[in-house]
Amino acid sequence: MTHKLALGWFSFSCCEDSSIIFTEMLNDHFDEWSKVIDFQHVRILKKNNKIHNLDVAFVEGAIASEHDEMKLKEIRKNSKKLVAIGSCAINGMPAAQRNTFDEGKMKEIEFLIEKFHQAKKVRTIEEVVKVDDRVMGCPMSETAFLDVLNKTLKEFKIT
Ligand code: SF4
Repeated sequence: MTHKLALGWFSFSCCEDSSIIFTEMLNDHFDEWSKVIDFQHVRILKKNNKIHNLDVAFVEGAIASEHDEMKLKEIRKNSKKLVAIGSCAINGMPAAQRNTFDEGKMKEIEFLIEKFHQAKKVRTIEEVVKVDDRVMGCPMSETAFLDVLNKTLKEFKIT
């Protein structure tokens, strides 16, 4: 085996609990995974991260600003496969809760939306870019993540 799976992990607007699950899984699987995975962009692991020529990008959270949208598009451009992680990334909820606010509540939070340069509507990952696979759960299911990861290793002929 010459090639390792170039992996990126990214978080947008959310509570980042799937990142915590991923960190816990790294405690158990790091030795085995480091033989077949190049952790190219994983901020919980290292300071210097690159978004370039990734095999797979795992993305949690919803897209709440133009800045997030641009970053997600950059990730998509640099990833052969993109996997949405968890309910916020897949369905928007609960991160997109403000989309359901009535007019009065929207008025109340208007100043915050402006202050933090947020978009009018929070969007799912799929509303912005093409998604190739999904890991359900809130936070993500460990078993579903392992299934997608193992499937991806096979797709990229890394065993
Ligand atoms: S899907 Fe659930 S665990 Fe994941 S970021 Fe959203 S609220 Fe948090």
